[in-house]
Amino acid sequence: MIICRNLAKARHDDAENFMATQIHEAAGAREQATHMAEIISYDPATGAEVGRAPVATAGEVARAVERARAAQAAWAALSYAERGHVVLRARARVLDEMDAIANLISRESGKPVAEALMMELVPTLDLMQFFARRTARLLKAEQINIGQYALMGRSSRIVYKPLGVVGIISPWNFPWAIPLGEVVMALMAGNAVVLKPSELTPLVGLKIGEVFQSAGLPDGLLAVVTGEGATGAALVEAGVDKIMFTGSVATGRRVAEAAARKLIPCVLELGGKDPMIVFEDANLEAAAQAAVWGAFANAGQACASVERCYVHERIAEEFTARVVELTRTLKQDVGTREGADIGAMSSARQREVVESHVRDALGRGARVLVGGGRGGREKGSFHEPTVVDKVDHSMVLMREETFGPVLPLMTFRTEEEAIARANDSPYGLTASVWTRDIRRGERVAERLEAGTVMVNEVLYTHGIAQTPWGGVKSSGIGRTHGRQGLLELVSARHIHVNRLARLHDLWWFNYTPRAAELFRGFARRFTTGSPLQTSLLLPRMLRRFSERRGKKRH
Ligand code: NAD
Repeated sequence: MIICRNLAKARHDDAENFMATQIHEAAGAREQATHMAEIISYDPATGAEVGRAPVATAGEVARAVERARAAQAAWAALSYAERGHVVLRARARVLDEMDAIANLISRESGKPVAEALMMELVPTLDLMQFFARRTARLLKAEQINIGQYALMGRSSRIVYKPLGVVGIISPWNFPWAIPLGEVVMALMAGNAVVLKPSELTPLVGLKIGEVFQSAGLPDGLLAVVTGEGATGAALVEAGVDKIMFTGSVATGRRVAEAAARKLIPCVLELGGKDPMIVFEDANLEAAAQAAVWGAFANAGQACASVERCYVHERIAEEFTARVVELTRTLKQDVGTREGADIGAMSSARQREVVESHVRDALGRGARVLVGGGRGGREKGSFHEPTVVDKVDHSMVLMREETFGPVLPLMTFRTEEEAIARANDSPYGLTASVWTRDIRRGERVAERLEAGTVMVNEVLYTHGIAQTPWGGVKSSGIGRTHGRQGLLELVSARHIHVNRLARLHDLWWFNYTPRAAELFRGFARRFTTGSPLQTSLLLPRMLRRFSERRGKKRH
C-alpha cells in the first residue's frame, strides 16, 4: 500500500470544510512506487485539487545534486551566448504557454490571473532576455587598479567562475517569478541548479523545470525536487555549493545554521514590514492608489507589501478617506474569474496569522475602517482587503510581518518622527517615501534602513532585473537580481601577474638588518599611497637589490 499524504498542511491545517482530509490511504494510487508520499496541491479559493507532486526523499535530492554536478562542467564550458540561446528558447516557450502558466499560478496560489501575468510572467520574460543577453558583459573580467604595485610590473584582474551546483529554495507567494529568476541567473553564470519549490505550489515549480527541458537544457542540469521543509533541509545537506533561500526569517535562520555547518554560503531573502511615508506635499491621489495596490496586491502576500503607512497629520483625513473609498472598489473573487482584483490567500494558516494580527490591534484600540474579516465567505481562504487606523507600535500588526491584505494607517508630525517610526522595526526590505520634493524624498530615502527605498513608488522593484534585491537587518543577507545578484552566483578569482619576475621581491628572505631598514621605510612611505614618498626609498631599495644579488651569486 502506498501512503499518499497531503504534506501541504500549512494550507489545509484545521481550516476549510472542503479541506477535510489530511492523510489519504491510497492503495493502488497513481504515483510511482518509489515515492512513498506525495503532495496534493489544492486551489485555495475553491478547494479543487490542482494536481499532485512527489515528495523527494533525501536520497533523491542527493542524486539530483550528483546528476547536476555531472552535467555542470560541460555547461560551464559553453559561451555566455550559447547559454543565452537556451534561456531565450525557454523564454519563447513561456510566451507560447503564457495563459496556461498564468492560469496554473492562479489556481495553485489563489492570486488573480491578471496578477500572475503582470507580477510573475512579465518581469520574468524581461529578466530572461536581460540575463541571456547581458550576463557576458556583467561578468566580464575586470582589471583592478593595484596602485603602486603596478609600478613594480604587476597587474591584477578578477575573473568570474561558476560555483558548481546552486540549491534554490523558494516560497509560495511568487511561485514562478522568484525561483525562475534565480534559476536563469544561476544557469547564465554557468551553474547547475537544484530547485525546491514551496510545498504549497509544487506544480508551478515543476512547470519551470518542464519549460527548460523543452528548451533543450542538458539533462540533469536543472532538477526540480518537490517536497516540504524536509526536502529543503535535505537540499542544504546534499553537497550543493550555495543556497539561495527565499522565505520566512525563522526558516532562513535554520537554513543559515545548516549551511554554516556545511561551510557553504547562502543568500537569505526574508520577510519585511515595509513602511510607506506620505508627506503633506505628496500627490495624494497617486499616493492613495499606491498604498492600496502596495498593500493589497497579491492579497498582501508580498515580502515588499506596504505593511505600515505613516501619513502626515495635515493630510491624514483626506488620504484615509480616499484609501477607504478605493478599497471599497476592489473586487475579491476566485483568481481565475475575470475582473478579480484580489484572490484568496494562499493558505488558511496565513489567513489565521492575518486575523490574529487584526484581533490584537482591535483589542488595543485600533479601528477597522473597511474590511476586517472573511467577507461572509464560507469557502476558500479569503480575507477582505482591510484598512485600519488608530494603530501604534505596541500592536503586533505594526511589529511583525502580517503578510496579508491589511493596511494600517498612522499619522506623524515631523520628518524626524516619520523616519524614526519607519526605522523602528527589526525588518528592512523595502520602504517608500511620497513627496513632490524629490530632494527631500532622496534625503529621507538615504536615512531609511531598507535594502530598497523608492521615492513615489511602491512594491514593484523586484520586477526590475537590473537592480539588486535584498534586505538589511532581519530581512536577509545577500542580493538577488542585477549585477550584485549575479555576483552571488559566481566565485571571484583573482589572477595576479608579475611581468618583472627577474627582479626578485625585496621582502623575500633573508631578513638582514638592511632589509629591516627598508621595511621600516616601506611602513613610513610606501603605505602613504604616494609614489613620490615611495621614490624616496629608491636608495634603500637599490642597496637591498644589490644585497639580494649577492645572495643569488653565492
Ligand atoms: P517558509 O520559510 O515557510 O518556506 C520557504 C521555503 O523553505 C519552502 O520551500 C519550504 O518548504 C522550505 N523550508 C522549510 N523548512 C525548511 C528547512 N528546515 N530547510 C530548508 N528549507 C525549508 O516561507 P513561506 O511561507 O513559503 O514564504 C513566506 C515568507 O517568505 C514571508 O516571510 C515572505 O516575506 C518571505 N519572502 C521573502 C522574499 C524576499 O525577496 N525577501 C520574497 C518572497 C517571500
